[in-house]
Amino acid sequence: MRKHIVAGNWKMNNDLAQTQALISDLKKQKQTSSAEVMIAPAFTNLWSAFESLRQNSIEVVAQNMHFAANGAYTGEVSAAMLKSIGVSTVILGHSERRAYFNETDELLAKKVDAALANDMRVIFCFGEELADRKSGAQEQVVESQIKNALFHLDASAFEQIVLAYEPVWAIGTGETASPEQAQDMHAFIRKTLNDTYGSAVADEVSILYGGSVKPDNAKEIFSKPDVDGGLIGGASLKAEDFFAIVNAF
Ligand code: PEP
Repeated sequence: MRKHIVAGNWKMNNDLAQTQALISDLKKQKQTSSAEVMIAPAFTNLWSAFESLRQNSIEVVAQNMHFAANGAYTGEVSAAMLKSIGVSTVILGHSERRAYFNETDELLAKKVDAALANDMRVIFCFGEELADRKSGAQEQVVESQIKNALFHLDASAFEQIVLAYEPVWAIGTGETASPEQAQDMHAFIRKTLNDTYGSAVADEVSILYGGSVKPDNAKEIFSKPDVDGGLIGGASLKAEDFFAIVNAF
């Protein structure tokens, strides 16, 4: 049985007081689904969020990390540093990291390796741009993003990998991929996994959809057989909206 996961990517939002206020609101919400719930606050607030959620099933995850163990990488944070404050899952390859910080598939492969070497779970993001979709190249783009960053791994490594398909044209734009577009791509991703790793991997890896998921469209998107959850940006910043999505399963 694949895990259902709903993860909130807070991006560069919420200072310490705002983080505490949102967590306090999150704790008041009632979860009626069995989805795993995660939130990804900014680095500066991870420890405080982790402390506040110690007795809670909401997992605190990081939005990024560096591939090196330590050293002269000013401004960066390593997997071991995250582990040392109780963070065991990291989002890698978000389209904003790719677009604004020049993160390439090759760099992401190194980050994935570093996360796995530190026994972390990875939420690996990828997705095509609008021009790719318009030219019909979306499957080709997604296939190469996944293969370049992940297909050097052994099958067993996929126990630690969650995939997040996030079409760039749907992130923060209010434009959502239709449930059918999401399902078609997720089925394609699963087939791609199956072709190389077989069904033991393909059937077990959770594939999340991300891109303008809101309380009013989550149920329909999550009803698709190959959609195992969501990576939520804007709607994760309000506790009621986020939990309406969590409970859409
Ligand atoms: C995201 O940034 O991962 C995302 C899906 O954002 P939004 O939900 O705001 O489109």
